[in-house]
Amino acid sequence: MCGIVGYIGNKKASPILINGLLRLEYRGYDSAGIATIEENEISVMKNQGRVNSLYELEGINDLKGTIGIAHTRWATHGKPSKENSHPHQDNSNSFAVVHNGIIENYNELREFLTEKGYNFLSNTDTEVIPNLIHYYFNKDENNDENRILRAVKSACSDLIGSYAIEILSKYNKNNMIVVRKDSPLVIGKGNGENYISSDIPAILSYTKDFYLLDDNEIVKLSRNKVMFYDENLKEIQKPVKSIEWGASSAEKGEYADFMLKEIYEQPKAIRETIGAKLDNGIIEIQGLSLDREYIKSLNKIYIIACGTAMHAGLVAKTIFEKLCKIPVEVDIASEFRYRNPLIDENTLSIYITQSGETADTIAALKLAKSKKSKTIAISNVIGSSITREADYSIYTHAGPEIAVASTKAYTSQVILLAILGMYFAQKLGKTDKEIISNLKKDILQLPNQIEEVLKSSDKVKQFAKKVYKEKDMFFLGRGVDYAVSMEGSLKLKEISYIHSESYAAGELKHGPIALIENNITVIITMTNSKLVEKSISNVQEVITRGAKVLAITSEEIKNNGFEEIIKIPKTNPLISPVLSVIPMQILAYYISKEKGLDVDKPRNLAKSVTVE
Ligand code: GLU
Repeated sequence: MCGIVGYIGNKKASPILINGLLRLEYRGYDSAGIATIEENEISVMKNQGRVNSLYELEGINDLKGTIGIAHTRWATHGKPSKENSHPHQDNSNSFAVVHNGIIENYNELREFLTEKGYNFLSNTDTEVIPNLIHYYFNKDENNDENRILRAVKSACSDLIGSYAIEILSKYNKNNMIVVRKDSPLVIGKGNGENYISSDIPAILSYTKDFYLLDDNEIVKLSRNKVMFYDENLKEIQKPVKSIEWGASSAEKGEYADFMLKEIYEQPKAIRETIGAKLDNGIIEIQGLSLDREYIKSLNKIYIIACGTAMHAGLVAKTIFEKLCKIPVEVDIASEFRYRNPLIDENTLSIYITQSGETADTIAALKLAKSKKSKTIAISNVIGSSITREADYSIYTHAGPEIAVASTKAYTSQVILLAILGMYFAQKLGKTDKEIISNLKKDILQLPNQIEEVLKSSDKVKQFAKKVYKEKDMFFLGRGVDYAVSMEGSLKLKEISYIHSESYAAGELKHGPIALIENNITVIITMTNSKLVEKSISNVQEVITRGAKVLAITSEEIKNNGFEEIIKIPKTNPLISPVLSVIPMQILAYYISKEKGLDVDKPRNLAKSVTVE
């Protein structure tokens, strides 16, 4: 959630900082601010509202400092307001701090500092940090070059919670300090300059070389040097990682919105996900090496995720159970982590998170590890936090996903999970070889088939124009068509703010059919020839009650009262969500556009959910 940017170099810092914040806007925020060092003082400029509103602040263009920190806030403690915006300073204005995350023990720390004579000007949890640093800085009698570093270390050992923090001090105009724990932060290495950011895409136009931080590491940056320390201030060495993503992959290009771009990028994204994994007879997944004996010993596979990633997991359940005959349980990370799940060393657990920073999913993984489960992380971001915790990490390689509502991450997760299912099945040797080789062929056709589906975009757009004023909608399906309906329903909620529900088509008559009334919109997905007749009967039940029905199907069906039929190519039903989700993404997109909403940055949502 929200974002952090930092710069130290020889250029004017403020435009670089604001540009970086603009690129982090998609993460969701309510206020923005920057601080730079001007001559001998720290200048802080901040405001509630959009990053661009910083340009309206008097004097912002006069900031000449070449070292600075910047922040977009997603309020957790204290309402969005100028006072609560970051950066925050200590009482003597010697330190300025920006912080992402939550300080859980801020009340105690505030009381402690109040007793010591400190005042607080905001309602945030963050404001204890600069004051605590000041407190320790003052207590330290040794005035050497590491005095600030020691103060930061002492302050951090008092903090309970999650944090990514940047610190500027007027006592050292040539350094800045950052530290992270359970909150994302990367360092971009430049030439005579260095950058800090919550994620890689925001600073890709400045550098492709990054240092990835681990929890509790403290970093001291100067223009020419980046020094890393562990929590005891012992110096450590970190490798530089070069990132392959081009800067343009984080730009909108000719598209009106990132979401539209990402919908259209799906054929390419999936080709990248598949990579060379299916090139040989034996399926190989880079980063994964599980032997047959281990897979045979499994009593259960858990798939844990949140939101869209959890919906990809639901598709994988069907794939894994069908191909591997191992029971699979899919759970929401925030539920799993608090319900003392039954796991042991014979339970494999798989964690799906696009950003690799989802706090609940990371915590769930840590819990499973403590119970001796082997863990696999599926992420789109190389080096992200979860990939540094998991036993194995495998990547979707879908390229940066900027729009808050996930599209290409979902389809690439489904594909990677399908390949993973095939990998297990091949090792187990239980599944007919022909089934695997046919599924392989079907997967390889998907990118071209998505291109086909994208051609029906106009038809979907026309349907969106008819229904965008609705208050409720229903998404129905059976089997994986039900799983994908959940994703369609979520997409609509996220970006159009229309209430919608997804139901297993056969479940409708057990209650929800009471909500079906004249003119209500129902979207039904039918991609499995074995289930299509059953689903059609369910649709007739709602058409009889006046529903307008959009059918997404790969089957030859008669138009018995459908408002619209979107035909998609036929594929193996196990992987059909990769095709059937596309019209649902497009529908949500155009409904949101018709309503004049901000498609890429829907209200209240953040791209990477780094708080629990
Ligand atoms: N907890 C802090 C606040 O409410 C930081 C929130 C954030 O991550 O932006 O100010």
